Amino acid sequence: MEPQRSIPKEIALLGRREDPSQIVHPKPALLEVKGNVELKRPLVKASSRLPLSENRLKRGPDQMEDALEPKKKRTRGLDAPTKIATSYPRAPPLTTVPQTTAQKVSKKTGPRCSTAIATVVKNQKPVPAVAVQKPGTSAVPPMVGGKKPSKRPAWDLRGQLCDLNAELKCCHERTQTLDKENQQLQDQLRDAQQQAKTLGIQRGTLEGELARVRAQAEQGQQELKNLSARVLELEARLGTQEGLVQELQKEQLELQEERRQLTSRLEEQERRLQVSEAALSSSRAEVASLQQEAATQAALLAERGERIYGLEMERRRLHNQLQELKGNIRVFCRVRPVLPGEPAPPSGFLLYPSGPGGPSDPPTRLTLSRTDERRGTLSRAPAPTTCHDFSFDRVFPPGSGQDEVFEEISMLVQSALDGYPVCIFAYGQTGSGKTFTMEGGPGGDSQLQGLIPRALRHLFSVVQELSGQGWTYSFVASYVEIYNETVRDLLATGTRKGQGSECEIRRAGPESEELTVTNARYVPVSCEKEVEALLRLAHQNRAVARTAQNERSSRSHSVFQLQISGEHSSRGVQCGARLSFVDLAGSERLDPGLVLGPGERERLRETQAINSSLSTLGLVIMALSNKESHVPYRNSKLTYLLQNSLGGSAKMLMFVNISPLEENASETLNSLRFASKVNQCVIGTAQACRK
Ligand code: ADP
Ligand code: MG
Repeated sequence: MEPQRSIPKEIALLGRREDPSQIVHPKPALLEVKGNVELKRPLVKASSRLPLSENRLKRGPDQMEDALEPKKKRTRGLDAPTKIATSYPRAPPLTTVPQTTAQKVSKKTGPRCSTAIATVVKNQKPVPAVAVQKPGTSAVPPMVGGKKPSKRPAWDLRGQLCDLNAELKCCHERTQTLDKENQQLQDQLRDAQQQAKTLGIQRGTLEGELARVRAQAEQGQQELKNLSARVLELEARLGTQEGLVQELQKEQLELQEERRQLTSRLEEQERRLQVSEAALSSSRAEVASLQQEAATQAALLAERGERIYGLEMERRRLHNQLQELKGNIRVFCRVRPVLPGEPAPPSGFLLYPSGPGGPSDPPTRLTLSRTDERRGTLSRAPAPTTCHDFSFDRVFPPGSGQDEVFEEISMLVQSALDGYPVCIFAYGQTGSGKTFTMEGGPGGDSQLQGLIPRALRHLFSVVQELSGQGWTYSFVASYVEIYNETVRDLLATGTRKGQGSECEIRRAGPESEELTVTNARYVPVSCEKEVEALLRLAHQNRAVARTAQNERSSRSHSVFQLQISGEHSSRGVQCGARLSFVDLAGSERLDPGLVLGPGERERLRETQAINSSLSTLGLVIMALSNKESHVPYRNSKLTYLLQNSLGGSAKMLMFVNISPLEENASETLNSLRFASKVNQCVIGTAQACRK
């Protein structure tokens, strides 16, 4: 696209190639005079200033073409001026040359001459192309149509001379005229040259202008190109920006949507907040009234706490009184059932007569009927039957369950919590059910759980209740065995496991009455599971020992002790006591008739040790019962270890476990007699251990 610029008309014409069809070329300016007159220099084409003759104007394009053909010959070397001249307005038409004269001349000199005349006369006074015939020269016949007048006869020399003179004269005149014309034409030529020069200068200027304009145009085009490129680039950027704008608009819409949602949520939240604030203020009022009520309740609670504490203390006192009434030494007899594969005892071998309250009363008596075969054989009379009656605090026939047994001792466990030392023994021959009573049956059946796990479960639940009254309790367990007067830890772990490295019984401190076993583990316990784990560990340790020494467990005393520590921090009251479970060694005696081999000698030593410690236990209980000044605690490790649990402030319960089998009748009788002796003992009023 070219910029529209206003270029001067002249420059536009110069820059344009001439269309030959539109240029009207004048006739050559030279006038040929009978071939004698000849212009040496080319004439400036001046015809452009001349008006076009009417007939030429009327010519059509074809005729114009014909007229143009000879142009090159006629205007040789004058192309440029001719072109320049065409840009000027044409001169007004000259009509000074009469048509007839011109026609006459043209007839004589041809088209060139007539054109020349026309050119010369431009802007000048019309000059007659043909000399005016002077009067008197009519003798010379004028040439008509370029033809000489008819030839004079040869004889008419005068006439011929006259003709020649006339012709010469005519020629002279014409020569003069032509000279004049020539002069005029030269002047014109000079003018034209001058004009051409001026026009050349103008052309140079215009060409310079044109060049500058072209340069400007090129520069403009370059700029235009740059601008187009820039426009394209901007359009591309515009496209990108538009895409971006669209994205942003989309994003804006999304954000507006989000904002709308957030606003609605905010409004919802504000609404809720208002509701909450209303609820809060009402709650505050409620809280204030509740606080007031709480204060009242707290005062009431404190008062009730005071009362509860008083009641608790009263309960403990009464509980203890009840236990004392029941006896600080109690003996329960438990008969194990006949096990599968064992011979059933004869009916009436063991009888459980009802108490004074009838069959509904729990049994307290036991009758063992024994037939004396030897006496019967000797007298040949039917063997006499001897009945042995025993009375205990309670008798548990074979069908009694573990829970039933525990119910009876749970009161003693409560006493231990209240701060009284409690010691529970299981006495009897091997296989009578001592371990079953203490620890439980095999297989982890909860129904068969023994006294130790049940007692601890009871303790933990009661402690939780007491915590509501401000009491806090802690428990530490230990489990040792005394075999052949040596103490071994049953809770030993690691390298000491099963080895049962020897332990010593020592006072906890120089001033302390507390006894402790050196090298033994004292394990804090707070739940049943921990206690069960300890019992399993003790069982494993005994099993390992059993491989080394046959059935050592039945030949040793197992002592499970639980140190109970209680505190009522707000009142600064503390209480502590030891709850001991003692699974005594088999009480059976060695058959004196047996032949003693090396194994039996060892067995004898064991038995003597057991008998010694069991009889020491009996002696200690007797001494305590008789309130003797000296109690032989130190005569055995067992009594020494239990020293603080057997005194006047302690409560003692002995289970005498017996076998239901007739074959064990002798040992059963021994056990029952020992237990009866213990049962007859009354130990002085127990004292709660309070600090
Ligand atoms: P001890 O410890 O006195 O040697 P055990 O407690 O080991 O005797 O009992 C011997 C066997 O009798 C065990 O198999 C035990 O399960 C079983 N037993 C003892 N007492 C009872 C009982 N009350 N009910 C059922 N089985 C019992
Ligand atoms: Mg046992």
